Amino acid sequence: MDARRSVVIAGGGPAGLCLAIELGLRGVPCLLLDDKPDTTRHPAANATQARTMEHFRRMGVAREIRAQGLPADYPTDIAYFTRYAGRELARLRLPPAAQTQDLARRATGSWSTPELPHRCSQMYIERILKRRAREFATNDIRYGWRVAGFRDLGTRVEVDAQPVGGAIATTIACDYLVGCDGARSMVRDALGIRLEGEGTASRDFMGGAMLAAHIRSAELYRVIRGERAWMYWAFNPERRAFMPALNGTDEFVFHTQLTERQAAGEVSEAQVRAMVAQAVGAEFAFEVLYTARWNAGYTLVAQAFSRGRVFLAGDAAHLFTPTGGLGYNTAVDDVVTLGWKLAATLQGWGGPQLLASYEAERRPSAQRNTRIARGFADSIGNFAPHARIEEESAEGERAREEAGRYLLAHAEREFSIPGVTLGVRYDGSPIVLPDGPPPADTINEYHSSGVPGGRAPHLWLGEDSLYDRLGGEFTLLHLAGPAPRSRRGVPLTTLDLTHLPQARQLYGADLALIRPDQHIAWRGAHDADPVAALARACGQAS
Ligand SMILES: Cc1cc2nc3c(=O)[nH]c(=O)nc-3n(C[C@H](O)[C@H](O)[C@H](O)COP(=O)(O)OP(=O)(O)OC[C@H]3O[C@@H](n4cnc5c(N)ncnc54)[C@H](O)[C@@H]3O)c2cc1C
Repeated sequence: MDARRSVVIAGGGPAGLCLAIELGLRGVPCLLLDDKPDTTRHPAANATQARTMEHFRRMGVAREIRAQGLPADYPTDIAYFTRYAGRELARLRLPPAAQTQDLARRATGSWSTPELPHRCSQMYIERILKRRAREFATNDIRYGWRVAGFRDLGTRVEVDAQPVGGAIATTIACDYLVGCDGARSMVRDALGIRLEGEGTASRDFMGGAMLAAHIRSAELYRVIRGERAWMYWAFNPERRAFMPALNGTDEFVFHTQLTERQAAGEVSEAQVRAMVAQAVGAEFAFEVLYTARWNAGYTLVAQAFSRGRVFLAGDAAHLFTPTGGLGYNTAVDDVVTLGWKLAATLQGWGGPQLLASYEAERRPSAQRNTRIARGFADSIGNFAPHARIEEESAEGERAREEAGRYLLAHAEREFSIPGVTLGVRYDGSPIVLPDGPPPADTINEYHSSGVPGGRAPHLWLGEDSLYDRLGGEFTLLHLAGPAPRSRRGVPLTTLDLTHLPQARQLYGADLALIRPDQHIAWRGAHDADPVAALARACGQAS
């Protein structure tokens, strides 16, 4: 038997790696096992939302991640074409990475954040997360290891781990096992937890079996007309596709829908090449580096997010259609919430109600986000190209104009979503003390609010973000009035902001208790008792 660990994580995708970082930051001994030889080769996610970048800032990797992917001056526009070498129909202009720091310092309202979204492949991000996770002496991060089974014995979990290709399994005892093992989660299956919702959808596009092809071509930018973009869409009756640019020079990932017949069988490289050529509409040389299949049409959430000492997070707990780019971002939000709760429980300051609040908080968020992603998929997938959209005629021109108007409005809805990502709330959680109606839940606008349950509203404190000044665990914002009473037993930092009347205005109270995941647990007047609120927020009292 291997040495006992506090936490074993099955799976080293974004969820598993971020959980290992959260635990590493808190000195909790953890073992991560992933059955691949290394981090992903599949470019998959390309949109890192502002909230995830805020988490990456706290984890100490935001700057490094911001430097990955496209060159700093490359625009992150979303552009729609009939074919990539054909007519441009619509373009949503979005800034290059080099401008985001400046923009974030000036942004207010919906985009009040120190970290604007970043467009970069999951492939590059996972490498940085792995390196960061390995920096903590308490972390043991192993690729090439499979979790083959486990037994929850009530006081501990026994996990059977096996080197891939090796016959002999080792048993590792741990306090908690977390299944971050993706869509086909063995952990979820072994717990007998089903996914609920819709497992299929039929749409003109983004419904059914999809092909992803990672391609390399130094010629493609010469073929694509117009200014550069991050995401290229092809919109014609023969071949619909979308294709994020990965490095701004020669790498792209091409996504298209397969026919039922193709979905049931093999797709040859010649067929892949023909699909790419249809979307581009011109001859050009390219290499196919890697292909994968994925499924559009999932709106699925696990019935339960835990059982006993075993938890689920990320794709193991919810499956999205990737419109809106929410799957991995929701996964990161899951483990940010779970990480501090596991640590607090293991370190003795988290009460008996704390771990149960994970499902109470994250399952409704997963239901909300999968529903929103499905709405985006319906909006783009059910809007079919006009038969004459490529025709050089008045009718063709009208079809292009109409498509352009629709696609631009759609892009504004799908690709500018601060309300979705910054507006996640834990109303109804047993460890949040509500004191008023939450703000409206809207997709494209984020309404900052001091009502407990939501993300702590952001403000700049000179060069620093408020978030840079929060403590590692709970923080009491002292916004007005005399200094609050002290407390015992729970790690709590007090941040004095009484010199900033705008902070008092933003939070609408003299005191605000901020959780380790930067959500507001409670707020109150200067003579109110933060000690009782803290006990509740740590799951020590109901
Ligand atoms: C085409 C496409 C585009 C996407 N675009 C976006 C986007 O822009 N934004 C976004 O937010 N999301 C996007 N997603 C979704 C995103 O890729 C996933 O939501 C994300 O990878 C989930 O992370 P995870 O860590 O939960 O699971 P995964 O990334 O699937 O990681 C799970 C890991 O567990 C390992 N594993 C499985 N079983 C075992 C076992 N028994 N033992 C050990 N290891 C095991 C697997 O090998 C894998 O490495 C996209 C997905 C696709 C397919």
